[in-house]
Amino acid sequence: MATVTPEKDIARERIFNFGAGPAVLPETVLEDAQRDLMSLPGAGMSVLEISHRSKTFEEILGAADADIRRLASVPSNYRILFVGGGASLQFSMVPMNLLPSDGSADYVVTGSWSKKAVKEAQKVGMVSIAATTEPETFSRIPEQSELKLDAEAAYVHITTNNTIYGTEWHREPEVGRVPLVADASSDVFSRPIDVGRYALLYAGAQKNLGPAGVTMVLIREDLLARTPAGLPTMLDYNTHAQNRSLYNTPPVFAIYVVGLVVKWMLAEGGLEAIGRRNAEKAKILYDALDGSGGFYRPHAKPGSRSNMNVTFRLPSEDLEKQFVADAARQGFSGLKGHRSVGGIRASIYNAFPRKGVEALVSFLKDFAAKNG
Ligand SMILES: *Cc1c(COP(=O)(O)O)cnc(C)c1O
Repeated sequence: MATVTPEKDIARERIFNFGAGPAVLPETVLEDAQRDLMSLPGAGMSVLEISHRSKTFEEILGAADADIRRLASVPSNYRILFVGGGASLQFSMVPMNLLPSDGSADYVVTGSWSKKAVKEAQKVGMVSIAATTEPETFSRIPEQSELKLDAEAAYVHITTNNTIYGTEWHREPEVGRVPLVADASSDVFSRPIDVGRYALLYAGAQKNLGPAGVTMVLIREDLLARTPAGLPTMLDYNTHAQNRSLYNTPPVFAIYVVGLVVKWMLAEGGLEAIGRRNAEKAKILYDALDGSGGFYRPHAKPGSRSNMNVTFRLPSEDLEKQFVADAARQGFSGLKGHRSVGGIRASIYNAFPRKGVEALVSFLKDFAAKNG
């Protein structure tokens, strides 16, 4: 078990970044990007300077597509799109493309991001709330038996991981023949995934995939035919699919880094190995919280707990403030919970090292012993 290190020289050393997003990236990815920043091998220019129509970028984009397909066994009838606007733009693009004026979509509400998705969909058409756990402060994912699903719905929308509340779907809901749409921004590629269960899956890159600025959309080809005529060009999935994400200038640098991160995931052993490691990291942390004799109280109910964002409370808000301040002095950044829920949140995405989790556990024990 790592011991708590003395106060870190934050100006020089990398610290443990528990931030929820933008978030920690693999060090080898940062080193590769840094090494090639002045001149990409073969290009003689920085990736920041190349044309998105250049052969060099064609290769970067092609490799990212191929590597994502390999990493997640993406079926051949799916398109991989890279678009701007964040996951938040997908809250609008999904209903604009997939919710017909005479149709209705089912939304499962499991946190703040789901609520935002609902709000945008309601501007486009009819929305039915298939379930919500808001009365229980989103401390769990609903059971299958609680979902009021409409067999005629245009689609069912879920948020696979609730970044703010720290809950996660551990298996997909059964939705019959209705297309399943998922916001997977904060747990995409954190474990093996059966892409075929989703008709559309989107993820802002800045939690598990890369830097901010690009959103990955996996869309089953037959859904492209649903888009109504007359949508603004940039909001139409067909524009991005037909032009292989090159209708306009895409976020070149962000896509390049996503490509490096996906190569890193493959080198790490793929989603099986990454999923195993993530489950171990989360268990170390939850075990420490559960074993604290009630000093630390995890927000999420067992069975719904996220392996990416671990949320918990302390006996008082004053202690939580002190916890965050003391942690910062040890070189632990980003532990303050989201402003809407308070408490503590440790985000331990794919690239977050196990030794950082062990160091936090050691700090947790010290802090509880001193203040319990
Ligand atoms: C961060 C996050 C978003 C928002 O992403 P932006 O890229 O900032 O629009 C949406 N959904 C989930 C689940 C998130 O974690």
